[in-house]
Amino acid sequence: MSSRTVTMRGSCLGGPELVVMAGPCAIESRQQIFQAAEVVAASGARFLRGGAFKVRTSPSAFQGLGWEGWRLLREAADAHGLATVSEVLSEEQIEAARAQVDLAQVGSRNMQNVPLLRALGRSRMPVMLKRSFGCTIDEWIHAAEYILAEGNEDVVLCERGIRTFETATRFTLDAAAVPIAKKRLGLPVVVDPSHAAGRSEWVESLTLAGVACGADGLLIETHPDPARALSDGPQAVALGEFPRLVDKARRVAQAMGRTVREPSLRAAAPAE
Ligand code: PEP
Ligand code: MN
Repeated sequence: MSSRTVTMRGSCLGGPELVVMAGPCAIESRQQIFQAAEVVAASGARFLRGGAFKVRTSPSAFQGLGWEGWRLLREAADAHGLATVSEVLSEEQIEAARAQVDLAQVGSRNMQNVPLLRALGRSRMPVMLKRSFGCTIDEWIHAAEYILAEGNEDVVLCERGIRTFETATRFTLDAAAVPIAKKRLGLPVVVDPSHAAGRSEWVESLTLAGVACGADGLLIETHPDPARALSDGPQAVALGEFPRLVDKARRVAQAMGRTVREPSLRAAAPAE
């Protein structure tokens, strides 16, 4: 638990429940996001993730469906009683995001975009600030303070791995950052094992490590067909394997005195 809690659409981050957020890296089609929403909801997650505006390393890579992506995300989430989390790239997107996005994600590459941080602070929208892969915990905390300084208290931090000399994983999950960041600001901290791992094979271990370090939430990429994903396919957990992953996280959470929402009966298999 953290000393501050952030509540949206009936989900509370920082309380006794460990909140699972999951979905594809990018929204690609109506069918893809609806399939994801069904399995994600049935597994016990509370948030559907999906990027509509993608910040890709290369400009020739898939950049997302844009506004249509957000509409589909909202529709799929509503159909399954989920809240939404998605990256907001710029100040101009904030007004439109209000209707479609319950938790505005600031991406790693934008962590020190001060005009965006200030604008999100003024908006009073709940914000999830991802740590830059090239920044210290201290710099991350100061970035969060830009949002808080505008009077927005609904801030959640997300550790998603930092760049080190190691190349076996895409980034290196900084496990210690979880308790340290929680202590520094008292804000809820979410762990993203997917971008840290870079390969689906290592996502489970990092998920469980995150839970054991006291994460208040998990942000996990899952896709109906990872091999065909338009973005971050290698790190996506197949939807068919996702319920089992949440189940393991639930068991570690219980050992930590936390709960994870129970799965519903439909959790067994993804929709066709
Ligand atoms: C994402 O969540 O898909 C993403 C782009 O993450 P990050 O900003 O941490 O790279
Ligand atoms: Mn991604």
